[in-house]
Amino acid sequence: MRSAAPALVIALLGTLLTGCQQTPKGHDQLDAVLWTQTAIEHEVLYQQIYAAATRQLQPALADPEWDALAQAPRDLSGLPPALIVDIDETLLDNTPVNAKAVVDGGAYDYAEWYRWVEKAEARALPGSVAFMQAAARLGITAYYLTNREPGQEADTLRNLRQAGFPIEDIGQILTAGTAIGGCQHAGSDKTCRRQWVGERARVLLMVGDSYGDFIAAPNRLDAQRQAAAPYRAWFGQRWFLLPNPTYGGWYTAPYADRDALPEGEKRALKLRALVLP
Ligand SMILES: [Mg+2]
Repeated sequence: MRSAAPALVIALLGTLLTGCQQTPKGHDQLDAVLWTQTAIEHEVLYQQIYAAATRQLQPALADPEWDALAQAPRDLSGLPPALIVDIDETLLDNTPVNAKAVVDGGAYDYAEWYRWVEKAEARALPGSVAFMQAAARLGITAYYLTNREPGQEADTLRNLRQAGFPIEDIGQILTAGTAIGGCQHAGSDKTCRRQWVGERARVLLMVGDSYGDFIAAPNRLDAQRQAAAPYRAWFGQRWFLLPNPTYGGWYTAPYADRDALPEGEKRALKLRALVLP
C-alpha cells in the first residue's frame, strides 16, 4: 500500500506557501483608515455634525453676546461675525496618504504628504461644503486655522476651491507658526491664531477634528479634561468636534509625543495604555 504522506506534505506546503502570499503584514492603521474611508457611520457622523452646526448659525448670528472663543468676556460690539475651522480631516479628506502607508506596509510618509498637498486633490468631507456655503450666504467670514506649513497656502486655497468651499482670500488661511505680534504660542498651537481672529471678529462657531482646534492643554487626558471643563456645554453648541481615528494628540500621548522612539517601543507603550477587563 502506498503511503499518502508525500501527497499530504505537498498539500500542506502548498497551503502554507499560499497562506504566506495571501496574508499581508499587519499595520497599526489599517482598521482606522478602513473605517474612515468605507464606513457609512463615518459619512453619517460628519453629515450629522455639520447639520447640527448649520442649525446653530442663525441663533449665533442673532445673539450679539454669542462668542465661541475660550477667553474672558470681551467687548464684541461692532465686530463682524466669523467662523474658525480646521482644514485637514475637518473639511478635506487626506486619508489616501494614510492608506498608501498601510498598503506599502511602512510608516507615514511625509514626502507623500507634501506631494499630496501640491496636487490639491483632497476631497471634501461629507456635509462640510454645504455648511460652509450656508455660512457664506449669511455673510459669515471663515478663518481656516490649519497646521499645514507656511508656503502651502496657495495649494491649499486651490484645493479648497476645487472641493467647492467658498473661500475668497488666501489671507483667510492661517498656517502653523503664523507670526502673531506679541503672542507667545507658536508652531501647531492655535491659541495665538484664535486670538488674532478674536481681535477682528466675533467667533460664532469652531469646527475641528482635534482637541487643539478648540482649546490648548498639555497632551494628557487629565489636563485636557480639566482645560475643557468650563466649556463642556459648548460641544455641540459652539464647538463641533469630528471623529478622527487615524491621528491626533491621542495617538502620540501614550508615548509622550516622542516620535523618534522605535516603532516597537511606541507600540508597547500604546498597548500599556489600554484598559483591560
Ligand atoms: Mg485636523
